[in-house]
Order: sequence, then structure tokens, then C-alpha cells
Amino acid sequence: MKFLGATRWVGLSICSAIFGLPAAAMAQQYPTRPVTVVVPFAAGGPTDTMARLMAQQFQAYLKQTVVVENAPGAGGTIGGTKVARATPDGYTVLLMHIGMSTAPALYKKLQFDPLKDLEPIGQVADVPMTLLVRNTLPVTSLKDLIPYLKANRDKITVANAGLGAASHLCGLLFMSRIGIDLTTVAYKGTAPAMNDLLGGQVDILCDQTSNTVSQIKAGKVKVLGVTTPKRLAQLPEVPTLAEQGLPGFELNVWHGLYAPRGTPKAALDRLNQALNVTIKDPTFNARIAEFGAVSVAPALATPEGLRSHLTKEIALWGPIISKAGVFAD
Ligand code: ASP
Repeated sequence: MKFLGATRWVGLSICSAIFGLPAAAMAQQYPTRPVTVVVPFAAGGPTDTMARLMAQQFQAYLKQTVVVENAPGAGGTIGGTKVARATPDGYTVLLMHIGMSTAPALYKKLQFDPLKDLEPIGQVADVPMTLLVRNTLPVTSLKDLIPYLKANRDKITVANAGLGAASHLCGLLFMSRIGIDLTTVAYKGTAPAMNDLLGGQVDILCDQTSNTVSQIKAGKVKVLGVTTPKRLAQLPEVPTLAEQGLPGFELNVWHGLYAPRGTPKAALDRLNQALNVTIKDPTFNARIAEFGAVSVAPALATPEGLRSHLTKEIALWGPIISKAGVFAD
């Protein structure tokens, strides 16, 4: 890290020399043009929702336009690569979730190293998941679902947002816990996956509550369980998967904000300040609470809070994925 710090300092000194500005003045001036938040999944899905809510807060704090750009595909790794290769000037950042920690094990030819090619800015928020089936599937509980899947295993499809997406991890965990292997269908995000679940083209989707609570409340899908240790206040009638005979079935979709490696410290600091204002903002917290999500504690909304969590999660998921034998080229 010493080396990185030195690189940043040298970069800033060079800029200061060219533009005749001391680093402190640069810090005050940034950002002088729109900042882009890259979402590595389809528009209208969970990561997009979180990014847009966050962008509103960043825009107010930074007094600069903050644009959300969707760069979907390959479970979020296309957007990740795009940001890892972007000019490190503070004008491109990435919002990515738990999938950042599974990508190194899942993608044999991953084009970037999450710990080396990106600068962590901080963790953002945690989002729960729900297990859904299409309304026309003749089951109403997890207890009904398991025998139904056993009898129909060749016909059932499980949608996800690509290898390493939260929906993929949840589906994998579910299939491994019930001991039934089903056909999966990958989309560029769970927004299009949800459309197909609503249309009856796929049967099962495990997705973040940011994309599911409104559909559940409107009665458009059947919900069979939540992935939290306790029931959600927003869906009190929905049992946890753990309480229905799958003890320990927990999945928390944590989110992190990243910049390309080499982004000037002055810009990273401003972005981190914007993140800290966001996680404490009552409007932001009220909006994400509508779908059962919570902002992280301030200690986690720091570069170290994200770096250490990512390091731990990479170590956790690597062996699980290798054992499951799932990977992509
Ligand atoms: N976060 C993805 C999306 O926004 C979904 C997923 O990870 O399963 O579509």
C-alpha cells in the first residue's frame, strides 16, 4: 500500500505542477464534470435501483451531475472490466455487489483483479433476497415446492443474472441444499429475468428485494421465503428459508463502490465523503428500507472496510465454487 500511496502522491504532484494547482485546490475543485456510476447489470434491476438512489445523493453532495450507465453481461464482469480499464480520474466508478468476490473463482479468464485493479471506496448497503416462483406454478410453500421439483426436475428452469450474480449464487445454494440440479437460464440482469418470470417463461427466481417486494405485494409472483436470519418487517408473512427446514440458508447482498486503480486520492476522498453522507441520509435510508435494505455502518463505508470484506469474501467463496465445479471461460 505504501507504493500505491506514493504513486497517487506523485500523480497529484505532476498534475499540480502542470496546472499550477496545489493538491488541496484540486480536491476542492473535483468534480468539474459529470461522474459516471457504472452498473454492471441491466437497467431497472436491483443494482440499478441502488445506484440510482445513491447517485441522487452523490449529485446533491458533489454539486455535479452523476450519471448511471448500465454495462451488463457475464454476471457483472463486463462492467467490472470496463471500470478497471477506465481512465483513473475520479469520473468513472463502479457499483458492484457480492459478485465481486465470486468472480475470481468463477471466471477463469477474468480480465481484472478486484483487489489489484480497483480502488475500494467503501461498502454501501446490504440487500436481502427472496425465493420466488411464477404465479402459475402449482405450489404455495417451500414444503410443496421440493416434491414438485423432484417430480418435474427436467422441466423446471431457474432464472439468474449470469454466473456470479446474486441470483446465481442463491440458486446454486438452493439447489445444493435441496440436492436437486435444475436447468438455469442466464439473463443480463434480474430486471429481464423478472419479466420472464411474470410472463411464465421461467419458473423460479431468487432475487434481491429491491426488485421483488413490489411484485410480491402486487400478487404478481409467489414468494416462498426470504434469505435473512429473521423475517423482514416489509414482508412479515413470508417465512425465512432457514425456518422452513433449510437452517443457515442466509444470503446478504453486500455492495461496494470502486474506482479504477490509480484514481487520485483527492477524488477518492471526495467520493468517500459523498458515500458517507449517503449512508447517513434519512431519505436514502427510508427509500432502501422500503425493500428491507440497510446502509452499512460508517466504519464499513471506508476503503479499508471494503478491502477487508472483499478479501474475506474472496477467500470464503473460492473453495465453495471450486468444490461445486462451476466456472466460465
Ligand atoms: N444485481 C443483479 C441485477 O441488478 C441481479 C443479481 O445479482 O442477481 O440485475
